[in-house]
Amino acid sequence: MHPNPNSHSNPAPTSPTLRLVLGDQLNPLHPWFATPQPHVVVVMMELRQETDYVRHHAQKVLGIFAAMRDFARHLKVQGHRVRCVTLDDPSNRQHLTANLDALVAHYGASAVAWQQPDEWRLDEQLNAWAQAQNPATLTCTAEDSAHFMLPRDGVAQLMGQRKQWLMEHHYRHLRRTTGVLMDAHGQPEGGQWNFDHDNRQAWRGDPPEPTDTRPHHDHSALWATIQAAGVVTMGEPQAADFRWPLNRAESLELLAAFVAHALPHFGAFQDAMATQRFRLFHSLLSFSLNTKMLNPAEVVQAAEAAYRAGQAPLAAAEGFIRQILGWREHVRGVYWAHMPGYTERNALNHTRPLPHWFWSGDTRMACVASALRHSLDHAYAHHIERLMVIGNFALLAGLHPHEVHRWYLGVYIDAFEWVEAPNTVGMSQWADGGLLATKPYVSSAAYIAKMGDACKGCAYNPKARVGTANGKPACPFNALYWAFFLRHQERLGKNPRLGMVFKQLERMPPEDKAALQAQADTTLARLDSL
Ligand code: FAD
Ligand code: SF4
Repeated sequence: MHPNPNSHSNPAPTSPTLRLVLGDQLNPLHPWFATPQPHVVVVMMELRQETDYVRHHAQKVLGIFAAMRDFARHLKVQGHRVRCVTLDDPSNRQHLTANLDALVAHYGASAVAWQQPDEWRLDEQLNAWAQAQNPATLTCTAEDSAHFMLPRDGVAQLMGQRKQWLMEHHYRHLRRTTGVLMDAHGQPEGGQWNFDHDNRQAWRGDPPEPTDTRPHHDHSALWATIQAAGVVTMGEPQAADFRWPLNRAESLELLAAFVAHALPHFGAFQDAMATQRFRLFHSLLSFSLNTKMLNPAEVVQAAEAAYRAGQAPLAAAEGFIRQILGWREHVRGVYWAHMPGYTERNALNHTRPLPHWFWSGDTRMACVASALRHSLDHAYAHHIERLMVIGNFALLAGLHPHEVHRWYLGVYIDAFEWVEAPNTVGMSQWADGGLLATKPYVSSAAYIAKMGDACKGCAYNPKARVGTANGKPACPFNALYWAFFLRHQERLGKNPRLGMVFKQLERMPPEDKAALQAQADTTLARLDSL
């Protein structure tokens, strides 16, 4: 059946509007859902297009589909008309706009609306589809997703012609305009914008890690459907005891538990690592935030309220709020200002393929093995493991940033390109040439030994740069660290933030440099067996 725009005899039911909800738009508080409307059909789709654009972690596919199904159920209970095209639905064409074509024809729809996608890929696809429609018979509208604090181009407008887009600049702007953590005189609470210097402690077991209060779900049946469809994934599905929140109510519970038990220690141990603890004092809220089950403003408000009630120190609340008000909004702005093309950047011309152990965790480097195990077991690793262990190694080893990007885009439950790409391509791999990070985030073993417990049980010696010491071969991070700066001396030598490193290199005897280079070359030649 096709719509007849000139027919007004029975307008509501015969000519409905389709409202498309994507898998990361599960916000029940969106204005769309305030009141059920009989002429509106909410459309959701589980697509091979989405399971296959990169190899995802099993928990990511499972989590998004399960949360979508939960959302569809919730809307139906509220009285909304919902059409959920499941993965195994015979009518599913497994392609977003092919399904839209079919649904428009099936319902005789005269309008299709969607919330602005956060990913450039989907934005392009929907815009191209809309352009191909006949506006006389089908109205297409992209609406606000009512989620972020700034519009897509908000950061770009603030940065203007600046060469380097410093997060701090827009963070302070947002603190001022929202009044978050500001005092009665319009000054930052505590007289400082940033308490990062208080946030650098290692964790030695005290205070204990808070209990993991995330819900338990059995999604074995859904996992069987995903497997039967032949979706290729990585990591452990944990389908029978699936631990991620799948709706707003569960997400709010996780937020409350985080604020009560982990936030007070978030600041101090933000950079800490522990091989046997994947979470420490982090919030685990990124999946709920990125699928819009939670709104960033309410998460920020909850942290600020805890500080004002004397339940969390200022350094902890500020450190946490900066991640959301600062980094999260910032990377989104970077993404939209620099797409398309951002994910292809490769400022340092790195070309090595990823070693096989990225998909198995099977390496003797204890820090990397632990961070990979956390990632593959939980579809999660906290920021420092992502940045200063896995990303650090990838950058030192000169792995191809696009391959690194595709791995990160798949492995984490919270990985959506708008947030993953700037973090990986920009912050972690410096492939954007320093737009996002003032200097490459690299370190030798010293940092990893200081902030975590992995070195103690490692097959390598963190103190040795070359050869073997105390029966253990030198830690690969050490020679790779110096070889990285030797390799990129021309590009990075004048960076004021790297002055100390290059001074040290200048003072280093040529034979020491040669030994480090030789050690790094040997290491790189056997990446797969490290
Ligand atoms: P917490 O440490 O509790 O922080 C609270 C919240 O702050 C997070 O939920 C997140 O929403 C926000 N946040 C913190 N750091 C950042 C950041 N750098 N950029 C944007 N938001 C931030 N985050 C994602 O959401 N998706 C990704 O795909 C992603 N990929 C990353 C890849 C690399 C290489 C790196 C270094 C970081 C990446 N991050 C990504 C940022 C960060 O690591 C995660 O947001 C965080 O680990 C999620 O865990 P959490 O909810 O426990 O965060
Ligand atoms: Fe990692 Fe090196 Fe420490 Fe081993 S010695 S855990 S490889 S930093």
